[in-house]
Amino acid sequence: MKIEEVRTHLLDHELDVPFESASMRFDRRMHLLVEIVCDDGTTGWGECLGPAGPNAAVVAAYAGRLRGADPLQTERIWAELYNALRDQGQRGLTITALSGIDVALWDIKGKALGQPVSVLLGGRFRERVRAYATGSFRRDGVDRVEDNAAEAARHRDAGFHAMKIKIGFGVEEDLRVIAAVREAMGPDMRLMIDANHGYDVLEAVELGNRAARYGIDWFEEPVVPEHLAAYREVRARQPIPVAGGETWHARWAFREPLETRAVDIAQPDLCGCGGFTEMRRIADMASLHGIRLVPHVWGTAVQIAASLQWMAAMVPSPVRRDPVEPILEFDRTHNPFRQAVVTQPIEHEGGVVVIPDGPGLGIEINRDALARFAPGASA
Ligand SMILES: [Mg+2]
Repeated sequence: MKIEEVRTHLLDHELDVPFESASMRFDRRMHLLVEIVCDDGTTGWGECLGPAGPNAAVVAAYAGRLRGADPLQTERIWAELYNALRDQGQRGLTITALSGIDVALWDIKGKALGQPVSVLLGGRFRERVRAYATGSFRRDGVDRVEDNAAEAARHRDAGFHAMKIKIGFGVEEDLRVIAAVREAMGPDMRLMIDANHGYDVLEAVELGNRAARYGIDWFEEPVVPEHLAAYREVRARQPIPVAGGETWHARWAFREPLETRAVDIAQPDLCGCGGFTEMRRIADMASLHGIRLVPHVWGTAVQIAASLQWMAAMVPSPVRRDPVEPILEFDRTHNPFRQAVVTQPIEHEGGVVVIPDGPGLGIEINRDALARFAPGASA
């Protein structure tokens, strides 16, 4: 079995109502899928976290090294591609592009062996996971307090047990939003806050101390991801558990946050941190340091499916009768191609998502949707 071709599929949709986090504005939804085709007709799919065009360029740069390679030798391919751009690429697009390739190779491996990736990773500890709703970005021309409160009530009514809201727009306004969301969702639903590194240490410490009374599960990306000492300070000076990791790529980026306990919860993204091959190492490191891992998920059904395979195989704590179960990040913002790219949408029912059990990632791609949402198409 040999790799014959590596293709990328850009997906693009212009939003009617743009939205923004503290660090990024979204006028369009753009994601990148990776398709790897083998000489026997087997095809694997992956996805890259981050800017779609630049990711496509790096995947194309790797493609020459992939042609003719045995797709089952995932560790060997990972090392070869990493080495190819190591000197200028220990983090960032080189790793997010490699992630999409690695996920596609594991999809091929699963299809070749007739097994879901989760079984190849060691076994399925669970067949379903609870999802948490991610949303509440700031939308143009909309009152943020009312908008987020209404959204929280909708997620509660849909059965979600937890919701993560976007903050980082200013301490006072954020506190008004948090109070309104807690009021709207009621006392039992779990609430997380994500500043998308919009704060400095002083703001994050103030926000954390004043928001803690609303019952917050975690405070995500309080400060910029390069400043690990700032992370540690936020963790030490306010009571809400600190989470982060969606912009840390490959095991080396996770070493210091884990070893120095900069976070309570590590959030590697399977399609950004280096794919299944590297996620295993990061998860082992987190386990070694006793730090909880909750994967970051932001993408199409391809990424959701890959993350579900990973979560199926996450080893539960052996010391507790009621172990902490992984929860799936479930993006609720507008994205018309999120589920359209697969023939069987991966939806939640009452806040619970069933983990596909077919070979590989357990999904089938809808090629019509790829054409419909290609840049310049009329969708
Ligand atoms: Mg985040």
